[in-house]
Amino acid sequence: AAARFAELRDKPASDRKGTRVSLAMNAGIMADLPSLAGSGAEGVGLFRTELQFLLRNSMPRRADLAALYARVLKAADGRRVIFRTLDIGSDKVMPYMNRPEEPNPAMGWRAVRVGLDKKGVMRMQLQALIRASNGRPLCVMFPLVANFEEFRTARELLLREIEREAHLGHPLPEKLEIGAMLETPSLAFAPDAFFKLADFVSIGGNDLKQFFYAADRENELVRRRYDTLSLSFITFIQKIVKRCADNGTALSFCGEDAGRPVEALTLAGAGLRSLSMRPASIGPVKDLILRSDLDEVAAIIEHAKEQGEDTLRRSMIDYIRSLP
Ligand code: PEP
Ligand code: MG
Repeated sequence: AAARFAELRDKPASDRKGTRVSLAMNAGIMADLPSLAGSGAEGVGLFRTELQFLLRNSMPRRADLAALYARVLKAADGRRVIFRTLDIGSDKVMPYMNRPEEPNPAMGWRAVRVGLDKKGVMRMQLQALIRASNGRPLCVMFPLVANFEEFRTARELLLREIEREAHLGHPLPEKLEIGAMLETPSLAFAPDAFFKLADFVSIGGNDLKQFFYAADRENELVRRRYDTLSLSFITFIQKIVKRCADNGTALSFCGEDAGRPVEALTLAGAGLRSLSMRPASIGPVKDLILRSDLDEVAAIIEHAKEQGEDTLRRSMIDYIRSLP
């Protein structure tokens, strides 16, 4: 299998009829970057920026962050990199920052909520990103956006930093894309204006699934209880696909499920055309998509709905076994 995946490395992922699915990789440290060339990823669909804040005893300096982000962009060699702003809180705690005790940290003061309340940290990180881009394209994504207002405010913070950098005479990004992670069901019901303002939306399936089922992703007693391939969840994904299509918003999926071949194929059948995953998953996911027909997967989803089935897992596994 390893040899076959290596063979596929420079081949784009598309199904038997030629429908393209873009496959990118998730990263979070410099050591991940060599995988870009090795895996055949088309870019970095999610660069998690938490680690540089978590693995130390004090707040990182702007210049150090800017240097690191610049090295990431250089290693990406023109491929698109989506930087996610700091997603702390919940399971990710910075030892040098005062936080209140929280009864329900996963639903608490985390991600963009912290960024919007502690604007100093967010602004410092945005400045580092702008300086790192240094005339190259820049993609920034805000985590756990729950409504339009949070996205608009975060976006304006970034635009204000761009203006400020311009005044200081720093080179600006050649092109700027600002997106939101869709990790709470509420954002799927945001007004059309949100989808039109966002340059892209990326589904954070790990958190979205946790909040969709009210099942803690950290809790062994419940974390495997509900299936990603349930018709409820896949129908919800189809709704998000439709809202983005209707509003012309680019959409991708970057949770762990994107790296599981059966799940990835089902997501593609539900209409996703861009997936971001662990680099090691790109070969297996590409191999499966190349052998499949996404129209057939879409038909399986519709058939299962008519049959009133709870999950697509059985029919997807049968379908994959039937493939040449
Ligand atoms: C997610 O929630 O799916 C995601 C990609 O972000 P994280 O796993 O870092 O919360
Ligand atoms: Mg998340």
